[in-house]
This record gives sequence, structure tokens and C-alpha cells, in this order.
Amino acid sequence: MGKGLKPDLYIKSVFDLDVNWLKERGIKGVLLDIDNTLVTHKQKIPDEKVVELIKRFQENGIKAAIVSNARKKRVAVFNEKLGLYAKHRAFKPSNRGFLKAMSDLNLAPEETAVIGDQLFTDIRGGNRIGLTTILVDPLDKNEPATVRIKRIFEKLFLKRKPWHD
Ligand SMILES: [Mg+2]
Repeated sequence: MGKGLKPDLYIKSVFDLDVNWLKERGIKGVLLDIDNTLVTHKQKIPDEKVVELIKRFQENGIKAAIVSNARKKRVAVFNEKLGLYAKHRAFKPSNRGFLKAMSDLNLAPEETAVIGDQLFTDIRGGNRIGLTTILVDPLDKNEPATVRIKRIFEKLFLKRKPWHD
């Protein structure tokens, strides 16, 4: 049995993440969601906070990569300045995008963390293959209807706080 929907860590924002938390756990790579994790759906390019965050990972010997369900163009435009390893249309919670990124970056599951704002895609997908999972609050509450519907279900789980028993 996996961890299901229980993240290993819950933080309000990815920008609050303490890299030491990752280092203490032997994490050598982070697989980052874009939409509502690094930037809002509306932001096409990374802002200074994102650039600083990626730099912080890299300076601490942690590889940063993008694994996103978004379209090719969205990911390519976003990643232009960052130049990270990036997978678009990852179909999270499918494990294929995660596994491909880990294989290309030479990362073992126990060295890899997933960071995202969605329980049913980012967290569930990462937990299924034994990755460290980090849940953040979505940056923008003004989301597309499809995502908002998912939030209703997420809230039911969050209320139960499954990771607090
Ligand atoms: Mg997202």
C-alpha cells in the first residue's frame, strides 16, 4: 500500500520551502509542477521568486525539473529562461512523466521529491511510486472550472487531514 493522498510535507507556498528539509532526507532532485505551484495559470514566464528558488535548489546540489500536465507551448515558454529539464503533458497522476524525468536525470525514487498544488495529480502520482511529496496551496483561487471542481473533492480530504490521522 502506498501513502495514497497523504503528502510528506504540507506548506503554504513553495517559496517557503526549506532546502535543508530536502537535504536532510537525501533529496537530490525536485520535480516541480508549474500551474498554481510556481506561478498562476495566467503568468506565462517565471518571476524573480521562481528564478531565486531554482537557484537555491541548484546551489544546494538539488536538480530542479519541471513535470507538468500543461501543453507543450506553455511549458516551453515558461522554461525558456530557466532552461530546466522539462516534461509537458505528463498526465499526472500517471507515473510515466515522473519516471522518465527520474531516468533522464539519474534520480532514484528515494532521492526525488514532487512539489505541487493538487492532491489527485501531484501528490497521488508521486506517492504511488514512492517519491517524497510536498503539497502547497494553489497560488490563485481563480482557477478554471475543471480545477475548481477537483478542489471541492480535495477540500473533503483536507478537512479530514488524512496525514494527521
Ligand atoms: Mg498545479
